Amino acid sequence: MESRIDRIKKQLHGASYKLTPQREATVLVLLEHEEDHLSAEDVFLLVKVKAPEIGLATVYRTLELLTDLKIVDRINFGDGVSRYDLRQEGAAHFHHHLICIECGTVDEIQDDLLGDVEKIVESRFDFAIKDHWLTFHGICKRCKSDVDDNVE
Ligand SMILES: [Zn+2]
Ligand SMILES: [Zn+2]
Repeated sequence: MESRIDRIKKQLHGASYKLTPQREATVLVLLEHEEDHLSAEDVFLLVKVKAPEIGLATVYRTLELLTDLKIVDRINFGDGVSRYDLRQEGAAHFHHHLICIECGTVDEIQDDLLGDVEKIVESRFDFAIKDHWLTFHGICKRCKSDVDDNVE
């Protein structure tokens, strides 16, 4: 079976880029930390473990390239830090996020859920939607159960 890294390699080749060792180390870090929302500095520190000679500028350029190719999405949760998130394979849209205002945990929703909303927006505003970002702010199930425990 073809691995995810092989398919990313093909995407790069398709756009006339090579999967250099530095790019590969960066992609591997993103794959290993798929659930996390790493900043460029976080990625750099993790890549450095695999490829000690790599520089921050190279990591930045690689993240920019992966963003341009839509392999990765750049997100900002309002704290001024750009974070990098692997796009689900075959996903037409970016996944949604649930941010807990108590503990700061970020959970993901991979289902699109917005098909009907998009149809309404496209017809009402005559607007061709290419993507959307959706972030919900609230209290996660772990924090909610803490509150329930305190009540008992
Ligand atoms: Zn995410
Ligand atoms: Zn929470």
